[in-house]
Amino acid sequence: MNLLAKPRPGPASSFEYIEGWGMAVGQHARVLRPRSTEEILECFRLAREARATLTLRGGGNSYGDASCTNDGFVLDISAMNRVLAFDAEHGVATLEPGVTIEKLWKTILPLGFWPKVVSGTMFPTVAGALAANIHGKNNFAVGTIGDACVEFDLVLPTGEVRTCSRERNAELFHAAIGSFGMLGCFSRIVLKTKKVHSGNVQVLGKSTRNLREMMDYFEAHKATSDYLVGWVDCFPGSDASGRGLIHDARNLAPGEDPDPAASLTIGHQELPANILGLFPKSQVWRILRLFNHDLGMRSINAAKYVAGMLEGLSPAYLQSHAGFSFLLDYVPNWKWAYGRERGQRGLIQYQPFVPHAVAHDVHTEILARCRRAGQVPYLGVFKRHRPDPFWLTHAVDGWSFALDFKVDPARRAELWKLCDELTELVISAGGRFYFAKDLVVAAEDTARFLPHDRLAAFARLKRECDPETLLEGKLYRRAFRDWICA
Ligand SMILES: Cc1cc2nc3c(=O)[nH]c(=O)nc-3n(C[C@H](O)[C@H](O)[C@H](O)COP(=O)(O)OP(=O)(O)OC[C@H]3O[C@@H](n4cnc5c(N)ncnc54)[C@H](O)[C@@H]3O)c2cc1C
Repeated sequence: MNLLAKPRPGPASSFEYIEGWGMAVGQHARVLRPRSTEEILECFRLAREARATLTLRGGGNSYGDASCTNDGFVLDISAMNRVLAFDAEHGVATLEPGVTIEKLWKTILPLGFWPKVVSGTMFPTVAGALAANIHGKNNFAVGTIGDACVEFDLVLPTGEVRTCSRERNAELFHAAIGSFGMLGCFSRIVLKTKKVHSGNVQVLGKSTRNLREMMDYFEAHKATSDYLVGWVDCFPGSDASGRGLIHDARNLAPGEDPDPAASLTIGHQELPANILGLFPKSQVWRILRLFNHDLGMRSINAAKYVAGMLEGLSPAYLQSHAGFSFLLDYVPNWKWAYGRERGQRGLIQYQPFVPHAVAHDVHTEILARCRRAGQVPYLGVFKRHRPDPFWLTHAVDGWSFALDFKVDPARRAELWKLCDELTELVISAGGRFYFAKDLVVAAEDTARFLPHDRLAAFARLKRECDPETLLEGKLYRRAFRDWICA
């Protein structure tokens, strides 16, 4: 060995356990962490040389297998995390792919801007968010993150780097957004953000007795509200099926906040370290763990519903953008309430998107079947959506219901069977699924709910951008490979 020779520059590499956020799927893999476009290309070369496939990964916040591998390498882009530029005149951010939503809002909020679209957690990267085409509580009003994207660079397994926008490489632009890392690796992303005149939003709680009431409220307010989200207690049936609590929020107009300089600070946004001034929030999952069974969750949901009724009687209140948007981050590692031991733990989220005309009946039937099967979701979140132009999009002019199911190893097969039945119901009703949340949909389902012309065009682009099928993760094999290769 020549000790004077310079070490070959290359991506950092390690061997790690890689799992879906819901902890119901995972395995060990070699993880590569590039710091530049050149190193992304080097990762492609390393995988090819080892005859391994490659799965792209951001923050690992997809519930299922979207960023998990079968037996290949993982390319984790989290080390490419610089904010390259922010144009404060137009609110346009140029970002490396591994910038998290947290880093983005912390950079732009003091300048009076907020991301147009955020997920319920601030930990995803912008690349992971764009690859999933995430939606927020304002999907009905502003669309998905793809709608806020101006341009990106995509590094293809062929070695080419293509700049894509609505004007340039428009096909690839619309195909890669929402393509779950199957076409290439985002290396630069340009996003529009929105001007805000306060660090707070005004929030109104509205308790609703069933799903019909919830949907009627959304429909009556969607033209004037900026954000609408419904929490649902999935346990009760008959007239109370789908009862819950809506949070209806709006941005403040210029001049409404008497001290925007104070509310736009990061400090104002930070969530308190203790809950009710007592429990360190880092330990709350341990308490939730004690209630992580049907009886416990039935009680917690019922208590939350009663608290929601009281909130519904109260006037609107101010809440920080971060507090309102990222409520789930308030309890760190809350998923550990579902168990921490490998193979004995986890949750799946199942999120069907159903067209408006049939949404009430289909979602009500979903809840009824869950109850009959004795597999009631411990958390249900209801949202209103609108269609978008991205090829593999999950969004419809309709409603989604995100349902968190505990994965009890002894009843896993039963749960998958229930989900298969629900999937049949949803697809027959013209619905769709969202792969960021999914672990159950099969390739034949994908081919039924996505339009055939889009799928054929996507398969053509896959062959052009990735002719050797280097980019092949667990999700690709489960839900795409069969029809792409057909
Ligand atoms: C608590 C919680 C709440 C959530 N709330 C919402 C919500 O409200 N709305 C919503 O839409 N989603 C929501 N999500 C889902 C989450 O936003 C998505 O799964 C998102 O994709 C996660 O981003 P990530 O950086 O963690 O990516 P990962 O999960 O690591 O990867 C996601 C996908 O991106 C691909 N990818 C990663 N990097 C690149 C790259 N550089 N180029 C191309 N492809 C790449 C991966 O291959 C994978 O297919 C939530 C998730 C959690 C855990």
